[in-house]
Amino acid sequence: MILHLTGAVLTAVGSRPEAWVDDGRMAWSGPAGPPDVELDGVVLPGLVDVHCHVGLGERGEVARETAEAQALADRDTGVLLIRDAGVPSDTRWIDDRPDLPRIIRAGRHLARPRRYLPGFAEELDDVAALPEAMARNARAGDGWVKLVADWIDRSEGADSRVRPLWPADVLADGVAAAHAAGARVTAHAFSHEAIDPLLEAGIDCIEHGTGMDADQIAEAARRGIPVTPTMIQVDNFAEFAAAGGRRYPRYAEQMLAMWERRDVQLRAFHEAGIQLLPGSDAGGTIPHGSLPDELARWVTGGIPATDVVALATWRAREYLGAGTLGEGEPADLVVYDEDPRGDITVLSRPRAVVLRGALHSGRALTG
Ligand SMILES: [Zn+2]
Repeated sequence: MILHLTGAVLTAVGSRPEAWVDDGRMAWSGPAGPPDVELDGVVLPGLVDVHCHVGLGERGEVARETAEAQALADRDTGVLLIRDAGVPSDTRWIDDRPDLPRIIRAGRHLARPRRYLPGFAEELDDVAALPEAMARNARAGDGWVKLVADWIDRSEGADSRVRPLWPADVLADGVAAAHAAGARVTAHAFSHEAIDPLLEAGIDCIEHGTGMDADQIAEAARRGIPVTPTMIQVDNFAEFAAAGGRRYPRYAEQMLAMWERRDVQLRAFHEAGIQLLPGSDAGGTIPHGSLPDELARWVTGGIPATDVVALATWRAREYLGAGTLGEGEPADLVVYDEDPRGDITVLSRPRAVVLRGALHSGRALTG
């Protein structure tokens, strides 16, 4: 199929007035004769969701049909590249489906018994087993391992609060084992206390990062460690605090403090030069297809829309080693009526979604 794109084709290096899609790839000149499809508008590289659990539901593993519906919901909002950030289901079959987004797997969440959501994680009885488990997950995944670095420890009664799961030395050995197996490591981290051991261990990426203080933010920026701020999820922290508040007042206090400073935190990451990664955290309680809402939330939190669009497309793609609509690169793209850098809510209304060169969804198909 040959597509002719006109309007503005936005890439990492600028804008082109037209381009072609031929045999699934981007081309700067077209073949003789009319194309199969004409698409006019503002063209962006497909959105990236780096924290999107395709194959996970509220109670853990889901059936294949559910995972398929999740992947389609993401695709139809323009998300064409996913890092799954931990999934209990085997989703390798998705690789044989050219109509579904490309997925970079991070294995299963690694946690300890009673120290994460039930049914989500591989739970290690013995903390010393972490390095072996990280090496194994590294070999089973697509270059990433997902670690749960902190969660509420309910064994402390009324003093219970979010605390690190792993001793610092075990964490360091675990990250080293994953690196030796060729994988990068990202970690779920809400609390302040979880961050220093992660930085010392050589963590590659941080999910949530709500408890990071100014020194930790500066250190992450200096080391080029990105953060996935998951604002839709962090907006829920006040509810989490209310739900746990009577039994666990210190937990409630901790969660509420992070909820109150969430927009300040988002801007602090950005102003320090940390690369913000786009992540919806869909799959547990947040619905798939939420990434445009997450990105709009960054703008209401104070990040300029121009930066948000770059971060959610070419910046995230470059970070994951994926194409950005250069000549000869895969045609994974989304067409919009207007430039979302002027109005971020445009991202929720794609005109056309093109994956591997095929037109799949959007109003261009339905009229
Ligand atoms: Zn998650």
